[in-house]
Amino acid sequence: MLISRLIPRQNKLLVENIALRIENEHRSLTDPLTKLGNRRRLYLLIETLVPSSLRRKDPFSIVLLDIDNFKLFNDEFGHSAGDELLVEVSDILKDCSRDQDLVIRYGGEEFLLVLPSTSLESAQILVNRIRSAIKAKTAITCSGGIAMHCEQLSFKQLVEKADQYLYATKHEGKDCFVFAKP
Ligand code: GH3
Ligand code: MG
Ligand code: MG
Repeated sequence: MLISRLIPRQNKLLVENIALRIENEHRSLTDPLTKLGNRRRLYLLIETLVPSSLRRKDPFSIVLLDIDNFKLFNDEFGHSAGDELLVEVSDILKDCSRDQDLVIRYGGEEFLLVLPSTSLESAQILVNRIRSAIKAKTAITCSGGIAMHCEQLSFKQLVEKADQYLYATKHEGKDCFVFAKP
């Protein structure tokens, strides 16, 4: 009698324990404000994406996107409005990308998109869609760098390349994207 009461109780505890582990794992990979993935999620993905993309000769592209003059936005409208804007931009990035794409909050107001099986040209089309949506729905603009992975580049070098392009946009007046050395 006692055992028949104990087994369902143990099963319930087991299920609760598994659910808690899944929730913790999800939380550790997620940015709490925007609900986008964080860098941990990124590193998990690239561990498999880089070798499989090279093996299949199926390159992926990345987009490093940064909100222009975000400090000014915070100064003018307050930190909470800044937080809301980050969530709005994150939602736009998710809406514009495909299920297989990974959208990461890379830093404060910086986002990284990893686009499997995507050429530089297709990445540009996506970026144009994102820029139009951001312009239509918010009061800010964004800038960034777009780069495609190739055999000669490690993932770190690829991000550095996109970061150099992003840096260049800030000197070219912002509200633009660079995908080849200016
Ligand atoms: P640029 O056009 O050159 O990118 O200038 P910027 O003002 O966007 O960039 P800067 O690096 O000078 O400032 C980034 C600002 O982003 C400063 C920081 O307070 C703000 N920020 C970072 N994380 C958050 C956040 O989670 N919430 C809010 N509201 N602001 C944040
Ligand atoms: Mg910025
Ligand atoms: Mg920045």
